[in-house]
Amino acid sequence: MPEPVRVAVIGSGPAGAFTAGQLLGELSPGLYARKVPPEDVRVDLFERLPTPWGLVRAGVAPDHTKIKSVTGLFEGLAQNPRFRLYGNVELGRDVTVAELRERYHAIVYAFGAPDDRTLGIPGEELDRSYAAGDFVGWYNGHPDHDHHRFDLSGRRAVIVGAGNVAFDVARILLAGPGALRGTDIADHALGALAESRVEEVTIVARRGAKEATFTPPELRELAELAGVDLVVDQAEIALAGETLSQPVPDPNSWRNLAKLQAYAAAPLRELPRRAVLRFFLSPEEVLGGADGAVRGVRFIRTGLVRDAAGQLRAVPTAERVELGADLVLRAVGYQGTAVDGVPFDGARGIVANDAGRVVDQDGPRLGEYAVGWAKRGASGVIGTNKLDAAETIDRLLEDLAAGRLLRPQSVSDQDLDAFFHAKQSEVVDHAAWLRLDDHERALGGADGRPRRKLTDVGAMVSIARGGA
Ligand SMILES: Cc1cc2nc3c(=O)[nH]c(=O)nc-3n(C[C@H](O)[C@H](O)[C@H](O)COP(=O)(O)OP(=O)(O)OC[C@H]3O[C@@H](n4cnc5c(N)ncnc54)[C@H](O)[C@@H]3O)c2cc1C
Repeated sequence: MPEPVRVAVIGSGPAGAFTAGQLLGELSPGLYARKVPPEDVRVDLFERLPTPWGLVRAGVAPDHTKIKSVTGLFEGLAQNPRFRLYGNVELGRDVTVAELRERYHAIVYAFGAPDDRTLGIPGEELDRSYAAGDFVGWYNGHPDHDHHRFDLSGRRAVIVGAGNVAFDVARILLAGPGALRGTDIADHALGALAESRVEEVTIVARRGAKEATFTPPELRELAELAGVDLVVDQAEIALAGETLSQPVPDPNSWRNLAKLQAYAAAPLRELPRRAVLRFFLSPEEVLGGADGAVRGVRFIRTGLVRDAAGQLRAVPTAERVELGADLVLRAVGYQGTAVDGVPFDGARGIVANDAGRVVDQDGPRLGEYAVGWAKRGASGVIGTNKLDAAETIDRLLEDLAAGRLLRPQSVSDQDLDAFFHAKQSEVVDHAAWLRLDDHERALGGADGRPRRKLTDVGAMVSIARGGA
């Protein structure tokens, strides 16, 4: 029997799951020119949390239940006998790159880009100025964000940034607890949102409506939120219209602009809560009050110019605009952090790679690959990671065909299992995760919810491993 090709995938978000699935021929077979029969490939998927599937659980908003159903696909691939999940095992904490290189033909880094980008302006650190990523992790029950507390006692929130994450955050703040009660939102968030006094959320974009990165469905969901008026500034939308003749490749922009023009023209319904969209405003300073907490944000009015690369850039004008706020959420994107032993491109916040092949100062690193947000940065929806995985797998299979993978020790499945259990005594394998999954679903079912999430790693591991 020839040795199987062993691949370690690090991170079980959509990118890692699509990579595992495609390597095993479970997901989108035929998407890439397969150069190795799938039956010769074994995939071990490593995940630092006791729960798999990354931001599908910890990022996607609780009311986006249809999107979350992609986990059904991933659970299906996990049934493949050539697949194993090593949950609660973190690269850099429990295992090292060197240990993996001794045991696998290839390693694929799929560990995402979990850190919030900062604004880099004064006042960012004031009380009631929060990173949107912390808020998202908190309402989604991510164990790393369990300890956060958000002061929702004020009336007005300003969100700096206008991508889909900003729209998710605005919707969660404005939805009202009744709308979230039937979701898998974390219990602590449901309780805090029930007490929230926030009634106006302003989303502020640096560029115009046409350049903003939110997608039409997110805009529609906000516009259709029960009890919420959507307020759009006519003048700022008209300003966007003036740049209509300039080429914009993304059809979403045109759809957004058309919708926004319609919303701006529609009369307000005098509903109890308001979502306000503002454009062409770049944050200059988060303003503090005498109590050391946020009282507003000062923005610089921007205009658009096309740079040498043909990209529209926001440039400052002399005009300043101040918006009052009781809390500020900074939603200007995510970036990755360096993991020990993995080449890192600090400027871009990603694993240093060339179309999926990890590179260091000497060129491509034998047998190491990157995929998903760790490879290309924090952009794109879940489906984007499918094609991205196909590109990385193509590189891996090319290298396999050319004899350019690692030459690990000859190890059996049992040897590997014994090794990782010795490194981490509380591995959560797929069967254990399903026990935790059943437990959460049963807890939720009693309240008519899809699940009630556990947020403490110790409790999760204990339930997963058969504890009471
Ligand atoms: C707030 C938010 C909402 C979103 N909503 C949507 C939506 O509604 N629809 C949509 O299509 N897309 C949505 N997206 C985008 C989508 O979630 C991403 O495209 C996708 O999750 C990126 O996949 P990934 O696998 O690269 O990263 P991730 O999903 O972040 O997965 C990375 C995984 O690696 C694990 N990990 C990290 N470090 C290590 C380590 N050292 N060792 C082992 N494991 C590690 C992490 O715990 C995590 O599970 C949203 C994103 C965010 C942030």
